[in-house]
Amino acid sequence: MTSDLPSKKNLWRPYTQMRLAPSPLEAVATRGSRIVLADGRALVDGIASWWTAVHGYNHPHIAEAVADQLARMPHVMFGGLTHAPAERLAARLAALLPGDLDHVFFSDSGSVAVEVALKMAAQMWLNRGVSGRTKVLAFRGGYHGDTMGAMSVCDPEEGMHRRFGAYLPSQVFCDLPRSAAETAALESALAAHRETLAAVIVEPLVQGAGGMVMHPPEVLATIARLARSHGLPLIADEIFTGFGRTGSLFACEQAGIVPDIMCLSKALTGGTMALAATVARTAVFEAFWSEDPAAALMHGPTFMANPLACAAANASLDLFETEPRLDQARAIAHRLADGLAGLKGLPGVADVRTLGAIGAVQFARAPDLPALKAAFLDRGVWVRPFGDIVYLTPALTIEPADLDRLIEAVVAVVPEQA
Ligand code: PLP
Repeated sequence: MTSDLPSKKNLWRPYTQMRLAPSPLEAVATRGSRIVLADGRALVDGIASWWTAVHGYNHPHIAEAVADQLARMPHVMFGGLTHAPAERLAARLAALLPGDLDHVFFSDSGSVAVEVALKMAAQMWLNRGVSGRTKVLAFRGGYHGDTMGAMSVCDPEEGMHRRFGAYLPSQVFCDLPRSAAETAALESALAAHRETLAAVIVEPLVQGAGGMVMHPPEVLATIARLARSHGLPLIADEIFTGFGRTGSLFACEQAGIVPDIMCLSKALTGGTMALAATVARTAVFEAFWSEDPAAALMHGPTFMANPLACAAANASLDLFETEPRLDQARAIAHRLADGLAGLKGLPGVADVRTLGAIGAVQFARAPDLPALKAAFLDRGVWVRPFGDIVYLTPALTIEPADLDRLIEAVVAVVPEQA
């Protein structure tokens, strides 16, 4: 197949210095865990398209559901109207999520789901007649998205948004406790800002884009307990972790906690359509339940609850019921832990860590990223290192032989580049 793509003229690409970056590769098709390029190569995908494609690409059940919905009603505004795909999806999410996380607000990207969560927490206090709670406690190393509010709770120094500090609402930052016993920093931050905090936000069990930094469930449980003891809602950003990535359907389950607000996106539609959800517990929802129109949540993205995306998400949830997705995630977890263990302790390797279907290798010093990316391409795999991290987050349906190819590539390439 020949093509005159890509062009640098009209397309402005994500996180890319357009002047310096090499031209991106042109993808023409996907199938299973493969990305097919215009030059005919079929790369084994180690990233599942930014952690979304949990069922692999082109699952026929999702394709059929979306095609059926496309013929029926591709989109309809959600103000004043509702539709079965959204009603069904909200009910199914409420049933799947722990506790009384029952109130589902749809949007169209992870960042916006976080914006909605921040806004919900802020307005919850206002609706209760409490003003002055204008800050959110967030953890260093965190990543919650690229919009202004979401950026304000990303890591303030290391994160990719540090240049925007002056434009963002100022928040309270704290190191993630390293163990359930090490709570002094968190407790003192909560105490120091007791009058001004509106919420605590955390990525449960793993800070993804901040470097695949993992913490045990007891730490998450401790964060939840301390937030609660200060009367603060806990926002669990499960945009990366939700839908099986950590080995359970939601990471919060492993800590036995019910956050007050949960953000979902990415794998919600099995990685096929743009959809996100901010889900609140009943106590949060009740702060908006009022005779006063001004107490309503003032948010409403044009494409919220898009019927195609809801149909895709319903089909994705079907697959969690009918196919052994969580068993597959656990099998991947074992294979990743075994396969990457040999890199531990090698010169130039600072750490190897795994959690569920996430495997990460951290270099001791920043590697030559272009060389690293090229080495993976030479081996026919799509692995996208960032910072000092090489990681694998494959589709949960990946064939064992393809997973082995990904692991073999990491095991071969990392020592060469370390
Ligand atoms: N929150 C977390 C934990 C994420 O990993 C991401 C994306 O990587 C986001 C929020 C932002 O999601 P989106 O890119 O869909 O806006």
